Amino acid sequence: MKLHCPICKGKIQYESQYLRSIFGDSITYKVACLVTHYRHYHVSYYNNGVSYVAKFYDYSVFKIKVNNRAKRQLLRGILKDPYYSPDDIINFATAMLQLQYNDEKTLEMINTIIVPKQKSTLDDFFDPIENES
Ligand SMILES: [Zn+2]
Repeated sequence: MKLHCPICKGKIQYESQYLRSIFGDSITYKVACLVTHYRHYHVSYYNNGVSYVAKFYDYSVFKIKVNNRAKRQLLRGILKDPYYSPDDIINFATAMLQLQYNDEKTLEMINTIIVPKQKSTLDDFFDPIENES
């Protein structure tokens, strides 16, 4: 599967049988693959650090931390990347909500991307005079 990484600024090839078995052929699968790609290619301390970290920390806790960092960096990246349309960005952020272990900072960032869109749709629905009471 070809993915567009906003950090590499181009197409990357990525497949994961494991992630596909969880998410199927969905946008969440693509987002999960990008997070994994980011962790391995854009976090220099990750590959080098795993054996070191394993001695002192719980690896799963470390991985969750790195993944959350990756998620936020990817969101920042796609916001600036002309490859992604405004709808792509909303879809990407929404799909990210399906991933496990989003921390507070990540959820906050996802919400700042998703919520304004929902609000404007809701506002269109109400007569502005009714909002004044
Ligand atoms: Zn990349």
